[in-house]
Amino acid sequence: MNDVLPEQTPRWQYLEGTARALLAAYAYQEIRFPVLEQTQLFKRSIGEATDIVEKEMYTFEDRNGDSLTLRPEGTACCVRAADQGALLYNQTRKLWYLGPMYRHERPQKGRYRQFYQLGVEAFGMSEADIEAELLLLCADLWQRLGIAHYLKLEINNLGSSEDRARYGAALRQFLLPHKDKLDADSQRRFDSNVLRILDSKDESTRALLADAPRLDDFVGEDSKARFAHLLELLAAAGISCERNPTLVRGLDYYNGVVFEWITDKLGAQSAVCSGGRYDALSAQLGGTRTPAVGFAMGLERVLLLLEETQAFPVGLEQTVDVYMAVVGQGVQSQALDLGRELRRSIPGLRLLTHCGGGKYNAQLKKAYASGARCALILEGEVPQTTVKLRLLDDSNTGAELPLGDVRAWLVRELGLADNQHPCAAQAAQ
Ligand code: ATP
Ligand code: MG
Repeated sequence: MNDVLPEQTPRWQYLEGTARALLAAYAYQEIRFPVLEQTQLFKRSIGEATDIVEKEMYTFEDRNGDSLTLRPEGTACCVRAADQGALLYNQTRKLWYLGPMYRHERPQKGRYRQFYQLGVEAFGMSEADIEAELLLLCADLWQRLGIAHYLKLEINNLGSSEDRARYGAALRQFLLPHKDKLDADSQRRFDSNVLRILDSKDESTRALLADAPRLDDFVGEDSKARFAHLLELLAAAGISCERNPTLVRGLDYYNGVVFEWITDKLGAQSAVCSGGRYDALSAQLGGTRTPAVGFAMGLERVLLLLEETQAFPVGLEQTVDVYMAVVGQGVQSQALDLGRELRRSIPGLRLLTHCGGGKYNAQLKKAYASGARCALILEGEVPQTTVKLRLLDDSNTGAELPLGDVRAWLVRELGLADNQHPCAAQAAQ
């Protein structure tokens, strides 16, 4: 689990800000829910025989003896919260959330025990147009971030739950005579989650699978037609994708379309964003029956990709415009006042006030070290009528001005937008 130190936070803010603005443009609504849930919620949704539930969850008993789990993903929580908040009955909802998830995995680049996901879930819509919209939203985000070029969309159709069950039975029958030749994980999944065997990276398992029955042959006509329509919508929108017939996703609740945005820039941690349709989940959890589709992206992986491809815009670091030196206790109160007034009247101004006293020279040194473009110096044993200003560049530009002229000088010399509110302008006259 990582700390995010001040040098890194501007990158997070940039990514989160870009995503929030885009979600607002699509008129999706934010939802927030706790990081802790009843363990049962994840067992029933993600599935007992999945990696997450079998070996990755942080589960403990609270003081009442209830089994609780730090959320390993957001979809189940979002469904629970939306249903309890009465958002699902007979209506459509387009929701998003952003926050930490917890999985006890082996930490490595792009894989952490606390990681952040941005999730989007759409409820009440069963047609392919919502699936297309979600993928467009992803594509727009990649584009706004300047990483579209490095991400590829893989997509598959799992068919209905019944299709999947019939296919699972056929796959099991096919693999039965070869069961002892499967890798250990796949042997374990043989009974519990046979489709996941398709996901195996083991060479000999993959070789066996070459002649296995194909999922697509078990998918019903309805589901096929809807998937074909989705592909048409994507093509019309100029979003290219690749069909991956072995993409099944690790969680049990999917049906119909599943997808992953992957990159070849991050080594083994190639999945940046994944999702799909999960029409049965809410009812399966005992809630309102509603069609649903969604995705989640790992923000650390997006950040790594931005870094790897040098796609961060320049000037992200938080900079200081003005450093206010305060020399002498007698001007401290005045300094606090002046700082407030300037922040109020110059929107966007970043003014750092020196606190803690000290000599003139020491404070000026700090002003330079802060990276500020300008020092404002208030000095004396009693409140002053003037302040000194100095640009911290090679220009030697400086001035000593009455308090009332400071604002205009800063706006002019620093090229800050002069957005003074009309009321404030009137009051000043
Ligand atoms: P992976 O195959 O890499 O383990 P996953 O299939 O377990 O991913 P999902 O459950 O689909 O991942 O979660 C959605 C996204 O969250 C992933 O595409 C990935 O970007 C991110 N993610 C998942 N697990 C981690 C982790 N431990 N650390 C960082 N990001 C993660
Ligand atoms: Mg995983």
